[in-house]
Amino acid sequence: MTDLPCRWEGNDNLFKLKDRHSTYHCLAATHEEIATNFVSRLHVSYKNLPLRVYQISSKFRDEMNPKLGLLRGKEFLMKDMYTFDSNEKNSQVTYEALCSAYSQLFRMLGINAMKVKGSSGDIGGKSSHEFHFISDVGEDELLYCPKCRNGINGELYEGKTIVCEACNISYEKCNGIEVGHAFLLGTTYSKPFQAKFGSSENVTEILQMGCYGLGLSRILAASVECLSKDDSIRWPFLIAPFYVSVIPPKKGSKEEYVQALAYSLAESLTKISWLKSNIIIDDRTNFTIGKRINEASSLGIPYVVVVSKRLSKTPKESYVMLVCVHEDQALSMKCVYKWFAVFERADKVFLTKSIVEDQRLLSVKKTLRK
Ligand SMILES: [Zn+2]
Repeated sequence: MTDLPCRWEGNDNLFKLKDRHSTYHCLAATHEEIATNFVSRLHVSYKNLPLRVYQISSKFRDEMNPKLGLLRGKEFLMKDMYTFDSNEKNSQVTYEALCSAYSQLFRMLGINAMKVKGSSGDIGGKSSHEFHFISDVGEDELLYCPKCRNGINGELYEGKTIVCEACNISYEKCNGIEVGHAFLLGTTYSKPFQAKFGSSENVTEILQMGCYGLGLSRILAASVECLSKDDSIRWPFLIAPFYVSVIPPKKGSKEEYVQALAYSLAESLTKISWLKSNIIIDDRTNFTIGKRINEASSLGIPYVVVVSKRLSKTPKESYVMLVCVHEDQALSMKCVYKWFAVFERADKVFLTKSIVEDQRLLSVKKTLRK
């Protein structure tokens, strides 16, 4: 990398190391050079295009201020993708497709996210967009139109007021945590690396590139930052470790004899397609129910099903749902099953809080109380 023109000089965040032979090395922050070098050695034909290579691996940045755990660390996990197209127009099509896939992913996570125009910074290239989770903890200041939600990173327009021409409204400010980035690179890397392809007219031409990154470890931390309460972790449904923790009664308690119910209930819940492998039975029956509920809550498991001989009230507005099953009531077992079965896949992009307000759920809850 030191011999290549791209990024070595003037990049303070690059993790540079000198070995005992005074040779410089770099712990890469992204892999444009490596991916481009790799593709330049392939005999790429126009028939192979568009070519999209990606990986999930550790990346490094010599951060000036590492802080907030996974939010800003010197090492982080990243999904990075490098795309190769035959011309600028096709490269733009790839760019739009990837940006829309990222937007869709963040919608599915159910977190308030925004796509804004970003600076091309150290990566270089023609244009770029950033994806941010909106949060006061975020270190980036974003400017956006409250009507059409077009936005830009504040560092591009320092101190100026801007007006969205389409909506005739002044941009507003908010803070964001950057969780994804897309760059249209043109030939910034492919030209120096001579990454080429054979065209249909049998002419060798330089490839047009794009690069795309998702900060995976930062998405984990930022999700928790955006959704959690003081006393419990909240995950987006898509990345919660489990959806349901089934808690059998404590060993030696008067209710121990309903233990088998817990296992048959958990078994029946696995037949609901969206729950399938997302159920855990907390069989540490030497612990009290309260301790196990607290642990499920602090792990961020959205639902807790306590199997007990008594029916107790479901706490309102609580992230942890307590669903109790009566000892010999097949009806209650059915209710619990129905309770989970009513949610179709599309509903799970929302958090439990909004599910609690779901009218269909309220009707199931009424049935439960009967
Ligand atoms: Zn607007």
